[in-house]
Amino acid sequence: MSHALRVTVWNEFRHERHPGKVRDVYPNGIHAVLAEMLSKAGCAVRTATLDEPDHGLTEEVLAETDVLTWWGHMAHQEVEDRIVDRVQRRVLEGMGLVVLHSGHFSKIFRRLMGTSCALTWREMGERERVWVVAPSHPVAAGLGEYFEVPHSEMYGEPFDIPAPDTLVFVSWFQGGEIFRSGCAYERGRGKIFYFSPGHETLPIYYQPEVQQVITNAVRWAAPLGWPAIPTPSTRIKGGHRPVPIEPVQSE
Ligand code: ZN
Repeated sequence: MSHALRVTVWNEFRHERHPGKVRDVYPNGIHAVLAEMLSKAGCAVRTATLDEPDHGLTEEVLAETDVLTWWGHMAHQEVEDRIVDRVQRRVLEGMGLVVLHSGHFSKIFRRLMGTSCALTWREMGERERVWVVAPSHPVAAGLGEYFEVPHSEMYGEPFDIPAPDTLVFVSWFQGGEIFRSGCAYERGRGKIFYFSPGHETLPIYYQPEVQQVITNAVRWAAPLGWPAIPTPSTRIKGGHRPVPIEPVQSE
């Protein structure tokens, strides 16, 4: 790919617009922190938010997006189905998708998974230890055996997702729960990564290891070729005919 990786950082951007804890932690929105981080990593970044026309995800924007990142929480139901259709189509054509934290309940993630994506949770700011269980996977690049998020929201099993193609991270929480916190999927020609750490009232998206994971995930999810195209459904006229097997001439 000759151009810089084109990333669209999508954020619901509702929590951060009201005075309070979330705005204290992310004064310009979670998307601003992610966009700055990915720009520093050399990506060509744009942002898009729920209240823009088409939620900022027009056909033109998606056509120019190699990887889309998704953060939503309180307004999943406000995402229009026609936009979900559009994003799903682009993923199947090859656009990468990185779904973060409470994005597990987004329409687009549930659509692509085909399950409820329900989980258990507890918000006490406990310690999370994120274990790398697939050290050879590109999303684990640069990490050690594990890293810790000192104060996290607990997300626990059962997590109603299809078995990941590759499970990259498993988290342990101080309260005893475990969670599949880093899951890699392929759908059509697209790659999808789900990464759970990142609650809106905690400064998790400023943590270097978390930034490393998201940057790795964006690079991994990038389409291998360009332009991304849908997988054709092609009728083979006449069918494939078996090639007659000639007996081997013995000498
Ligand atoms: Zn949360």
